[in-house]
Amino acid sequence: MTLKKKNKLYEGKAKILYSTGYSYSLIQHFKDEATAFNAKKKEVIEGKGVLNNFLSEFFMQKLNSVNVPTHFISRLNMREQLVEKCDIIPLEVVVRNIAAGSLSKRLGIEEGKRLPRPLVEFYYKDDSLNDPLVTESQISTFEWATETELGEIFEIALRTNDFLCGLLSAVNLTLVDFKIEIGRSFRSEGEKLIIADEISPDSCRLWKTGTQQSMDKDLFRNDEGDIIEPYKIILKKLQETN
Ligand code: ADP
Ligand code: UDP
Repeated sequence: MTLKKKNKLYEGKAKILYSTGYSYSLIQHFKDEATAFNAKKKEVIEGKGVLNNFLSEFFMQKLNSVNVPTHFISRLNMREQLVEKCDIIPLEVVVRNIAAGSLSKRLGIEEGKRLPRPLVEFYYKDDSLNDPLVTESQISTFEWATETELGEIFEIALRTNDFLCGLLSAVNLTLVDFKIEIGRSFRSEGEKLIIADEISPDSCRLWKTGTQQSMDKDLFRNDEGDIIEPYKIILKKLQETN
């Protein structure tokens, strides 16, 4: 099969989506742009797109291999991967193991406090509203996802958390929290939920185990230093576990 990069379908803050000529797939291109605080802070960080392309490939491929379905099909080149096209559920699904970020600010929970069990939260994906936290009842009422889908989303989120915690602890990193997006895939075997978008240190909080030293986008958010070196180290260490 020859794959043709066709039209640009969407350009977001960190990625571009292209059509492929096949209705079931897309090309996802990782840009070097870094944004934080709903794009109020913006910078081009040379090489970030390449690293996130490889990192997201690594995490998604591992998840596929343990039957947690993701959109990842194959990496095409340094900045692009072929992914399964899906209908994105308009929620940012966040899983937390340790209090940090908006949870600590909103509820006054000390940063670094381990939660008694993993916490799953939902944010409505709408930049113009600043991605507000929403309840399960709101999700059902506004039909962003059905109750059956919500059950499945919890299961995917918690299995992903379990799996990523293990994978990352092997390279001396603690998974504090992360965000995933989930979409409805339209494979021939019927509708199914899959993890889409990306999994990378842009969408996770990763601390060096036993410390609160960030190895993720917080370094950029909080002007605490370069992200390229830490992202490179994470990728290298993960690849060495293979
Ligand atoms: P944003 O839209 O927040 O600026 P990005 O620059 O990361 O973010 O854009 C990527 C867009 O592609 C997101 O809106 C995401 O929901 C969407 N997306 C990711 N994976 C898929 C997929 N497999 N099928 C359809 N849309 C996807
Ligand atoms: N996150 C993300 N995209 C967003 C918001 C959050 O990838 O638009 C990730 C973030 O990197 C962190 C987790 O989701 O790993 C929880 O983020 P939080 O709600 O604490 O918000 P923040 O403090 O990052 O604004």
